[in-house]
Amino acid sequence: PAARRPVRCALCGRPLTGAESRRTGLGPDCDAKLHPPGPDIRTRRHEVEQDPLPGT
Ligand SMILES: [Zn+2]
Repeated sequence: PAARRPVRCALCGRPLTGAESRRTGLGPDCDAKLHPPGPDIRTRRHEVEQDPLPGT
């Protein structure tokens, strides 16, 4: 009986084994690509574009 269907990554097509990966439909690597860590987005508003090295 094929209880569990094989789920493949929507991005690279690799078979997913992890529970969360099958839930999101993305492998860990691809999920990280599509969903970068949150802190980066938070600090972005606080972080202003840095000017190039001063004095040049
Ligand atoms: Zn993938």
